[in-house]
Amino acid sequence: MIAEPQICQPSPAAVAEHPRLSPRADDALPSISIVAPAYNEQEAIAEFHRRVSEVLRAIGAPYELVLVNDGSTDHTLALMHALQADDAQVMVVDLSRNFGKEIALSAGLDHSSGEVVIVLDADLQDPPELIPEMLRGWREGYDVIYGVRSHRDGESWLKKATAHLFYRLIGSVSRVEIPRDTGDFRLMTRRVVRELSRLREEHRFMKGLFAWVGFPSRPLVYRRSPRLAGSTKWSYWKLWNLALEGITSFTIGPLKIASYLGLSVAFLSLLYAAFVIWKTLMYGDPVRGYPSLLVVVLFLGGVQLISVGVLGEYIGRIFNEVKGRPLYLVNRIIPSQLHTKTSASPPEAR
Ligand code: UDP
Ligand code: MG
Repeated sequence: MIAEPQICQPSPAAVAEHPRLSPRADDALPSISIVAPAYNEQEAIAEFHRRVSEVLRAIGAPYELVLVNDGSTDHTLALMHALQADDAQVMVVDLSRNFGKEIALSAGLDHSSGEVVIVLDADLQDPPELIPEMLRGWREGYDVIYGVRSHRDGESWLKKATAHLFYRLIGSVSRVEIPRDTGDFRLMTRRVVRELSRLREEHRFMKGLFAWVGFPSRPLVYRRSPRLAGSTKWSYWKLWNLALEGITSFTIGPLKIASYLGLSVAFLSLLYAAFVIWKTLMYGDPVRGYPSLLVVVLFLGGVQLISVGVLGEYIGRIFNEVKGRPLYLVNRIIPSQLHTKTSASPPEAR
């Protein structure tokens, strides 16, 4: 059962005032690529195909479904092949191994060829029924219509709380404004996808990259449904790493914090040294103070280790980037009908 999606419409005045918008005709229909990365989604993939196809057929535009198999170890790939055999709108991009959602998504974007691209999770957490609403935003002239979650049904309070905290943290430290409570569910025009595919950094934090490219964008508030089947592929450890990725690829704030922390500790130590000298002169120096000595040593050691760790996080990323490896490798591609019709050839998996 899908909860009634809440929809956020900008006022007509806001649209009129947006200087960069060039609205499209009311009945304009772009060719649509749906991009869905999937990792072990055997329970969901067929239902995903059914629901998305239903919505797209009702819209009546030419479309394709780019299903990216991110090295699944279950029957996901076989099911994708079966869907493809029955439905020429389906394209299968089979990656050579599991590369993680962010990269699988990029692979799907690289191989899509529609005039607009819509990113959906294969577990049906993002309701495909909102696609017509996204197209309305496209007709208003927006290049990006991004889903903002008003509710996250079926997710634990800890996940919601940590996600909430993370969005606020990254919002306050990052140089580009990353919309809050926004996932990968979005519609993008071809030019946005083209620009996005030029960002080939290996440490990918898609939410940040989406925000970085910019272009006229508007939110679409919706209720995130629980997973159709299976369980989330994101453990808290993976989420922590994603958060680290987000912070280190979008701000050098932690490096600055490390230096300011170092500076203030050094300054405090100077004050303390002055105090110790004064005390010795005034009252002599009975050999005491072992606990305070230990505290200071440990504290300084801790600060240094943290700072080295922060440095390490950045250096590690530099190390990975300079290797210049391709983002992903493809095992096999089965193109869709739309793909063979439009001449767009998939870019090299640079
Ligand atoms: N996914 C993927 N590769 C991975 C992990 C996940 O392609 O290594 C896909 C997954 O199949 C799903 C989407 O990314 O379609 C979102 O994953 P998940 O539902 O586990 O994340 P959540 O919705 O819990 O944030
Ligand atoms: Mg999910």
